[in-house]
Amino acid sequence: MTALLEVSNLSKTFVLHNQGGVVSDVIQNCSFRVRQGEAVMLVGPSGSGKSTLLRCLYGNYLPDHGSVDILHRGKVVDLVQSFPSTITDVRRHTVGWVSQFLRVIPRVPTIELVAEPAIRMGYSVNDSYERAISLLRRLNVPEKLWQLAPSTFSGGEQQRVNVARGLVAGHSILLVDEPTASLDDDNRAAVVNLLNEAVSRGAALVGIFHDVAVRDAIGTRQLHLEALQTSA
Ligand code: ADP
Ligand code: MG
Repeated sequence: MTALLEVSNLSKTFVLHNQGGVVSDVIQNCSFRVRQGEAVMLVGPSGSGKSTLLRCLYGNYLPDHGSVDILHRGKVVDLVQSFPSTITDVRRHTVGWVSQFLRVIPRVPTIELVAEPAIRMGYSVNDSYERAISLLRRLNVPEKLWQLAPSTFSGGEQQRVNVARGLVAGHSILLVDEPTASLDDDNRAAVVNLLNEAVSRGAALVGIFHDVAVRDAIGTRQLHLEALQTSA
């Protein structure tokens, strides 16, 4: 089976300018691949670089060395060497991102916000709204909220809107960072089911979850951040 995502010899350092230019090696020489239908859980103590690694996989952080090869529209694209326009297209078509927080909360009705990535993926407007509605129902977002912008929603409601937005387009690679952090048991279970369905359909998932039970319910494999790295 082909890898949808292959990370090779990835390193990421931060230079701490306000601490006398100290260099912090967060990711050192990290390599792994993720195939269709695999859900890789990143495991490691707080500060071990899980979120940093995930951001490198989304093209948010530029690594110092290494490659992030993504199977995108039938071709392998190295995100590290890509132009911003390619990264934008990879995010539209191939790699979805689900985090704990709605990053920007524009004054757009929830239903439109959730449907938008599906429309950008190329689904018809009708199909996109149907997908959005089905996800909002599954995630127990009350129908009376759908026409409202999510800025006044509770943290848990915003989180579920964010999950719906992240899953609506059916991306082949999903990067998820603590998407269940402030959810109650029922809603956490709803998110777990949706992520499992995405993986069963063949998505490659890389995820960070504090909750061990959630990790066990979704993961097909764990990668311990420390174990991934070989000293250069
Ligand atoms: P985790 O998600 O495993 O808790 P992070 O990836 O958030 O860890 O952080 C790993 C390390 O990298 C931490 O020491 C953190 O302070 C540092 N770090 C993360 N992002 C930045 C940044 N933008 N600038 C400087 N240091 C950062
Ligand atoms: Mg983190």
